[in-house]
Amino acid sequence: MEMDELDYTIDDVGALVKKVSIKKIKPCIAAEGKIRVLMQTDAELEDLIPYLVSRYPPGKVNYIERKKILTLTLHNRLITLYPSGKISMNKTRDKEEAIEVIAQVIGDMNHVYMEIQEGGTEDYSKIKDKLSHIGPLAIYNCLPQTSCEECGQATCMAFAVRLLAGETTLDQCTPLYDSQNISKVKCLEELLGSQIMHTLGWKD
Ligand code: SF4
Repeated sequence: MEMDELDYTIDDVGALVKKVSIKKIKPCIAAEGKIRVLMQTDAELEDLIPYLVSRYPPGKVNYIERKKILTLTLHNRLITLYPSGKISMNKTRDKEEAIEVIAQVIGDMNHVYMEIQEGGTEDYSKIKDKLSHIGPLAIYNCLPQTSCEECGQATCMAFAVRLLAGETTLDQCTPLYDSQNISKVKCLEELLGSQIMHTLGWKD
């Protein structure tokens, strides 16, 4: 459907992105009655996108490195970020909901951008290497493997699968905080690195 462009100020003091414009609204082919919203940020995202990859659970992220296109499965929809600052969001109720959701992602973007500026971000090649080794079995190997169910899952493997899908957080495995499991925490740190540990919900 044709429409006038709509401009929204998301964060006046945002380190990178301050505004977003809704360029087009189309019917969503993935969900009847919903819309697909095409937006544009007021800053290019090319340099930022690789650093966003580790800020969401691996199961929520699809990154095409060659094109620097990142698709996030968040809030029950797909949000695709392009290097130019173009954003596509499907399964959305209306433009107000689109802005509400994208404001949260832009908050993440500005936070990560600040960290990059302050030199507090791991190099992307290291993050990429870590991500290539992360899977349910690798996580399982670093868990206490008692299937005690304290995390609400029947088995440690079920917990590992749900963790990577972003459906639970690492701190829910409370036995990891017991002193006898310090080697397990070290194993996770080695596998994931501090950034991804944090993304998956580890609290020191
Ligand atoms: S709390 Fe930890 S040790 Fe217990 S079942 Fe869950 S993942 Fe396994």
